Amino acid sequence: MTYDLAVVGGGILGLAHAWQGARAGLRVAVFERNAYADGASVRNFGMLAIAAQQPGPELQSARASLAAWQEVAASAGISLRQAGCLFVARRPEEMDLLVERAAARGPDVQDFTLIGAEDLACHAPGLKEGALGALYSPEAWKADQRGVPAAIAAWLARDHGVTFHFGTEVIHAGDGQVETTDGQHAAGQIVICGGNDFARLCPDAWAQSGVSTCRLQMLRTAPQPEGWRLKPFVMGGLSMARYTAFANCDALPALRAVQSAQMPEAVKHGVHVIIAQEDDGSITLGDSHHYGAGAAPDDPAKVDDLILAETDALMTLPERRIAARWVGNYAHLSGQSLLRISPCAGVTAVTVTNGQGMTHGFAVAAETIANLTA
Ligand SMILES: Cc1cc2nc3c(=O)[nH]c(=O)nc-3n(C[C@H](O)[C@H](O)[C@H](O)COP(=O)(O)OP(=O)(O)OC[C@H]3O[C@@H](n4cnc5c(N)ncnc54)[C@H](O)[C@@H]3O)c2cc1C
Repeated sequence: MTYDLAVVGGGILGLAHAWQGARAGLRVAVFERNAYADGASVRNFGMLAIAAQQPGPELQSARASLAAWQEVAASAGISLRQAGCLFVARRPEEMDLLVERAAARGPDVQDFTLIGAEDLACHAPGLKEGALGALYSPEAWKADQRGVPAAIAAWLARDHGVTFHFGTEVIHAGDGQVETTDGQHAAGQIVICGGNDFARLCPDAWAQSGVSTCRLQMLRTAPQPEGWRLKPFVMGGLSMARYTAFANCDALPALRAVQSAQMPEAVKHGVHVIIAQEDDGSITLGDSHHYGAGAAPDDPAKVDDLILAETDALMTLPERRIAARWVGNYAHLSGQSLLRISPCAGVTAVTVTNGQGMTHGFAVAAETIANLTA
């Protein structure tokens, strides 16, 4: 078969590139080695975290990507819920950071509202007593991460004529050909969206780029009782220290110092906690960050316990039984949010390297396809 564009990988990046390619009038095929997407795109929180971005180009990219998500969701009939997010302060240093961030205003700054301790219960049930206040932003959307890739693939096949080759691994890409476990196909352009795994297809480019892997642990509770609903994503001080939305705050060094002194194990394992309710009532909890190939912690159960301890410090969940635990991986490049390289003529490899491909994926794809079709 001959295609204008062959996309390797059926995760959110691959699907976003396939959509942008089809919209540009290209004949597109997607090759996914599993029977369905099984990478980071189905293992995350489904958080389109506009609120967590650094004002400037990062925030603009997230907002552009959200606009594309909304268009896709409406056309493909998938649910995209404006959940909002709540950064809850339990330490004075956290509150100082939130107050400073709330004071920043302007068209290129997120819409944040400072919430007093007495009003917290209106925003989220189950928050622990003793919280000092919170910062709320409406700019966070919840996608159903487990169902979205399959739904988008079905819609792309049906409405955009994209051909899907599931259960088909690409073993070589170059010279206008994709060689797969199911035969060879000609392609004018090849875009590799293999997540943290394009090392196998482009070993030299992977090695030269300096990119590595980040391993994350995640948990999910059993469904909460009927009627108990948590609308926003809830996060605490560890997330404030992680997200670039707070990177320029003068209060950040003091917060980091307190965390290093008071929660060294959580800091060591890169734990920060996001609490997110799924449509089935369960709560997704995570995560941790271990960097480098084969960087599993010695005691993964201890890392889960750190995530749960931080969750318990923030909230009382009526149903605390853990129904599922899993690991996710993404490509990581320190201080860089995107790796887009061309290892040889006609081949582009693209991966989001800051762990926020759900938030930025559609904007990244629009740029790649614009470059290829210019
Ligand atoms: C635990 C966790 C939580 C996260 N939370 C968030 C969040 O809330 N918000 C956010 O914005 N981002 C989040 N991220 C990051 C986000 O999930 C990723 O950036 C994004 O999903 C990457 O998408 P992708 O399509 O590049 O990769 P993947 O989803 O990993 O997809 C790559 C696909 O390529 C396939 N593949 C690889 N090689 C081949 C080959 N040779 N032939 C055929 N198929 C191949 C794989 O099977 C896989 O399905 C999180 C990540 C993790 C791990």
